[in-house]
Amino acid sequence: MIKVKLIRYTPEGEKLVAVAAKQSLSRKPFEYQWEKMSDKEVEVWIKETLKRNHLSPWEHSVYTFVIEGISRACSHQLVRHRIASYTQLSQRFAKMIKEYFSVVKPPRISENSEASEIFDEAVSKAYEAYVKLLDLRIPPEDARYVLPQAVTTKIVVTMNARELRHFFGLRTCLKAQWEIRYVAWKMREELLKVHPLLFKWTGPRCINIENVTRKGEPITVEDILSNKAMLTIERCPENIVARNIPRCIKSALSIVSILENRAYNVVD
Ligand SMILES: Cc1cc2nc3c(=O)[nH]c(=O)nc-3n(C[C@H](O)[C@H](O)[C@H](O)COP(=O)(O)OP(=O)(O)OC[C@H]3O[C@@H](n4cnc5c(N)ncnc54)[C@H](O)[C@@H]3O)c2cc1C
Repeated sequence: MIKVKLIRYTPEGEKLVAVAAKQSLSRKPFEYQWEKMSDKEVEVWIKETLKRNHLSPWEHSVYTFVIEGISRACSHQLVRHRIASYTQLSQRFAKMIKEYFSVVKPPRISENSEASEIFDEAVSKAYEAYVKLLDLRIPPEDARYVLPQAVTTKIVVTMNARELRHFFGLRTCLKAQWEIRYVAWKMREELLKVHPLLFKWTGPRCINIENVTRKGEPITVEDILSNKAMLTIERCPENIVARNIPRCIKSALSIVSILENRAYNVVD
């Protein structure tokens, strides 16, 4: 099972973003504004950063996640996001003993019995070869070359709020592959528990673009899904016309219920 857990974050990160944003327009000292700023004003200044597309204040709030049970295929997509810090389980030094060997089986393979059999066979042959190479005293760093991309890994990830907003723009979108899309929605879910004033405004790129071009109040994914707000953009960057965007977001998010209602991992 894929596990996404927020383990550390900037205390009062929402207020830090808001006060930093206000600092850009006020000569009053930081401490003065920190003392004076009410919760309501925090929300106002966070919205202001979106309206003005002034996102550097978001960089001051930082979040660390532990992500376990994703495939190496997925972790490779994740680490392409460069404004972040990563520490991943080493395949060079941590020997993949049977007890730890597991793979992610994509739902479209699990659902097809013939494909599922081909997958299981390939994985178990690959693992057999890995063990044989280790038996021949080949070091794990070389033996691992025969392992599939499906093999699971764990990774510690630190990103600031601005990068998270950018990452969600790309990876909660339906265009992103199902596994990293699941991880992205789960990261957002974790963040909403601690800093909802910042992260409720995040989501696929259509939301980001809507919120920097829209007149008046910004909107959330949840507003779109509950028909509380209408988009003003004509199309998203993926060329989906506005009237189809709510359906597109719903499909993108459906990966969470799909994966959570079904066993999709195999442990060999
Ligand atoms: C649906 C999808 C399909 C993809 N398909 C492919 C593919 O087929 N092949 C492939 O190689 N990759 C693919 N990628 C990965 C993609 O090309 C990016 O590497 C990845 O999404 C990271 O995005 P990023 O560079 O915007 O973000 P980050 O690395 O997170 O950087 C954030 C932002 O910082 C700025 N930035 C960071 N580093 C630099 C820099 N060196 N110079 C200038 N500006 C910088 C940019 O504005 C960037 O958008 C795909 C991604 C998605 C979402």
